[in-house]
Order: sequence, then structure tokens, then C-alpha cells
Amino acid sequence: MADQDFGGGCALLGTVRLVDIGVPMTGLKALRCGEARALTGWVRNAVAPAAYQMLGSELARVDGLGTYACRNVIGSAAASGRRSGHAIANAADIGGFVLKDGRRITIAADWASPDLQVHGFLDAIHRSACRRFGTVLSPDYNAAHHDHLHLEDDHVGFCR
Ligand SMILES: [Zn+2]
Repeated sequence: MADQDFGGGCALLGTVRLVDIGVPMTGLKALRCGEARALTGWVRNAVAPAAYQMLGSELARVDGLGTYACRNVIGSAAASGRRSGHAIANAADIGGFVLKDGRRITIAADWASPDLQVHGFLDAIHRSACRRFGTVLSPDYNAAHHDHLHLEDDHVGFCR
């Protein structure tokens, strides 16, 4: 996509828009290249196989909650005033997954699921995300992330 600098630390530089990653995904707008690569690999090589192997159904859709947003980090007093990775389209928020058998697994409703298969699936994709992204924030991190996984390609090595 064409580079755009919106000022105030918000910019789209070196971004792409993913058109087809093999699994339908909502909420995909601009993403920086490295983030797009990590996200595609995670969906195709971690989430889709885990859904099939652990839940017994193919992955039909990933519900993304957005990529670019010109805003600061939310939910952390220590980081308040700092621009979010979303301000440079270097992060994606994932709300849940729809399976071909019709089941919908959401971070908000199922993160603390007593269902061992669902719990195992979410644990597996979370651990895989932590190997692929620099920062991964889940409901285990803070209340601001109760309904999504924040996946950011920042090479920080922070996994919660
Ligand atoms: Zn986020």
C-alpha cells in the first residue's frame, strides 16, 4: 500500500493488505510486512492445523478485530502515553475463530473454557503466537485484552 504519514506517531509505512491467506479473515486492513508474514504463518501453520487436530473441524474463518488504529497503548498505566503498535499497523487483534462445523470459539467466551479440547486449542495457538510474534497479549495480561489476542511484530519477547 502507498506510504502515508498521519503525524503524531501514526503512519502506514511499508504496509500490505492481505487479500487471501488461505482462510477467510475479517478485519484485515493495512499491516506492516513482517506482521503480515507472521500473521499469515500463524493462521496457516498453527491455527488451522490445531483446529483440525484438536477440535476435529477445519478452520472456516478468523475473526480479526482490526490492525491499524491511531491510538495509544490501552489498559496499562506504565505504558500510557505511548503509541500502540496499531498506530503503525504493526499489530493485529484476534477475537475468535469459526469452524466448518459451525462452532465459534471466541477469546471472550472461551479463554477460560472448562472444555479440555477448546482449552488445549487456545493454549496451543497462544504458545505458537509467542514463538512467532514479539508481543502477545491475552486475557491473562489485563482486562483491556479480555476479548482478543494482541499479536505484534515488535521483537520484544513479551508473552502473556
Ligand atoms: Zn491490539
